[in-house]
Amino acid sequence: MSTHSEMTVGAPSKQLAREVLIHGPISRAELGRRLGLSPASLTRLTRPLFDAGLFMDAPESGERVVGRPTKPVDVRIDAQRYIGIKLTGVELFGVGTDLRANPDVDDVEPLAGHSPEQVVAAAARLVGRLGGPIGVSAVGVTVGGKVTDARRVVRAPFLGWHDVDLADMLERELGVPVVLENDVVALTAAEHWFGVAKGVENFSVVTIGAGVGYGLVIHDRPVVTADTGLGLGGHFPLDPTGPLCGDGHRGCSSAMLAIPHLCATARAALGRPVGYEELLGLFDAGDPVAVEIVGAALRALGRMIAASANLSMVDTVVLSGEGLALIDGRLHLVQAAVLADRDGDASPVRILLDDSGFGAWARGAAAVAVQASFG
Ligand SMILES: [Zn+2]
Repeated sequence: MSTHSEMTVGAPSKQLAREVLIHGPISRAELGRRLGLSPASLTRLTRPLFDAGLFMDAPESGERVVGRPTKPVDVRIDAQRYIGIKLTGVELFGVGTDLRANPDVDDVEPLAGHSPEQVVAAAARLVGRLGGPIGVSAVGVTVGGKVTDARRVVRAPFLGWHDVDLADMLERELGVPVVLENDVVALTAAEHWFGVAKGVENFSVVTIGAGVGYGLVIHDRPVVTADTGLGLGGHFPLDPTGPLCGDGHRGCSSAMLAIPHLCATARAALGRPVGYEELLGLFDAGDPVAVEIVGAALRALGRMIAASANLSMVDTVVLSGEGLALIDGRLHLVQAAVLADRDGDASPVRILLDDSGFGAWARGAAAVAVQASFG
């Protein structure tokens, strides 16, 4: 068995590997049904993946074929290793993961500046501390901006970048394949393949943190357009009486929900600096300013979830991001706001929570590196 199976396999095998990666452990019968393969074809296609050490027999499921027990197929999640890095304006946050983008190590490298060379040097230091590129199948890097072809940052306002061939630069430095992606697209991909929305065919994602992100999966595929990465979901109008965002929108999703905006609104009202956790604690304690600000944020989040369900026609919405403490113990207030904007006969909106905080971003970066390896 080789420890690092290269995915130099044909398209049917890649599809097979992808099915087992997402749905494993999975019975051979179910796998055959999903791929439309006869038992003989399935055996022929799976053999090289077993030989390469990528597949393994999972513990028996109890399924029996004419009295003979069959073992479900699963991927050997330690067969390949990945690194995921989220690039922000101040630091790189990285994780080392297995084949299902489960992080087992994380680290942070501060940025000395915003030049591409400084970012590449910082990434090399971070990758070195996460175990080095040797033995890593691919490195995924995500940015809050517009990315094309998994190679180039077209626009990243928080870095002042236009048209930076970051993947090429990183590959020259690291010597391993690098996949670049928009951070919300990557986080959505991670939820779809490995996260709380695994196996869900239609859902949206709302992230709350430094900004507000919006992602969408329809018919089991991520919705990615020419405008993906512009952050359009971050400025969706939610409250005509809300504060202004930096783009001059009154009560848009960023103005109502992004951590810096909530803290700035609280600071203006209370006349002193207020941290996010403190603001949420003040809400729970009944402070009238916090009740107003956080209450409006919770209603705005409910409105955004309902708008997504009503317009995108999904009945599942994933909430993620480092600002998710907003809803701790307060989800009922969000749900009440969803109901207020939803037809009484419409399907209930299922809200799924990814409470992994900021780590969800780096996991997303690792997930797109895994996906690239699996075609
Ligand atoms: Zn705005």
